[in-house]
Amino acid sequence: VPAAGAPREASSISLRNLSRRFGDDAIALDDIDLDIRPGEFFTLLGPSGCGKTTLLRLIAGLDVADAGVISIGNRDVTMTPAHRRSINTVFQSYALFPHLNVRDNISFGLRMQGISKEDQARRVADIATIIKLDGLLNRRIDQLSGGQRQRIALARALVCEPDVLLLDESLSALDAGLREQLQFELRALQQRLGMTFVFVTHDQEEAMVMSDRIAVLNDGKIQQVGTPQEVYETPVNRFVASFMGHDNLFDITAQSGRQVETALGDLITESSRPGKVALIRPETIELSLPGTPGVEPGAKLNRLEGDVIGRYYHGATVEYELACGDAEILVEERNSGDRLFKVGSRVQIEIYPEDVVVIDS
Ligand code: ATP
Repeated sequence: VPAAGAPREASSISLRNLSRRFGDDAIALDDIDLDIRPGEFFTLLGPSGCGKTTLLRLIAGLDVADAGVISIGNRDVTMTPAHRRSINTVFQSYALFPHLNVRDNISFGLRMQGISKEDQARRVADIATIIKLDGLLNRRIDQLSGGQRQRIALARALVCEPDVLLLDESLSALDAGLREQLQFELRALQQRLGMTFVFVTHDQEEAMVMSDRIAVLNDGKIQQVGTPQEVYETPVNRFVASFMGHDNLFDITAQSGRQVETALGDLITESSRPGKVALIRPETIELSLPGTPGVEPGAKLNRLEGDVIGRYYHGATVEYELACGDAEILVEERNSGDRLFKVGSRVQIEIYPEDVVVIDS
């Protein structure tokens, strides 16, 4: 395993006009263009069936595109077989050899490459230390927990020192605690090795905590590529917004300048972008008692009243569901510990114009 350091040039990935269809009507990937930078933790995010695994298999060379070009480190590998690309894949199923012990599972790829016994032993020992598998090397696979198997699958892929590592829903079989721990470890490892990771998940929170950048896919098409902050805070359309977990999406029925008309009422927005949906993040909305001066007396805020119809206590935060006229809106507050609004109470909300994000439908 190389020392910590700069990303390797060989590990950039570029996809041009990539398409893959199965049969006559199933277009799994439709004209994909994507550039993944060397040393990036890049995530393919989208719902079931959107084409994530198909895209990963094309990058790995396990499947062949109907059209398009795949380059890795500026070399066209479109027709290069999987074993001649400097890529390894960690599958959701882990695909370990149950009859071999941990050491032999990890060194399998090195044996195939004809690497000497001494070098194999050294590299397995190195990777075992990094991935915290010391002490498990002589165990059989069926004597291990899910999290330990996950680590071994990772070690087996990393020990071959690929330029690119592909991970397909690698953490989704684990329970929440272990998953969070491995998310953290995987991210730390990737930064330390400077390797390019392409990670597949349908979990938007996992994508946000892990990634340098995210590509959101739907129906075989890329909807948006950006940093977690860009994709979450300024989604390009309703699909991306709702996939990123946004509930407060209001159709704009009329728009004149900075004023938009929605079921919630008329809203002032700072957004100069023409669009058809207003997005308001629950955590940007201010709550107060009706008739009080509010957070910024005299400021040009969107000020509305509503009734609390649901309250969800999360500990650090409290979520309120409000009915404002015909519309419902979710508001999230930090729990300061000094007041909670009851279901049935009337409240005032204030929304800063810059927090009304106008997006495409
Ligand atoms: P999931 O999160 O459920 O794994 P995914 O985003 O990885 O989904 P893919 O497995 O890439 O989705 O599938 C994309 C589309 O292509 C789906 O409609 C799927 O049914 C179809 N598809 C994938 N592989 C094949 C195949 N070998 N034959 C026929 N159709 C396929």
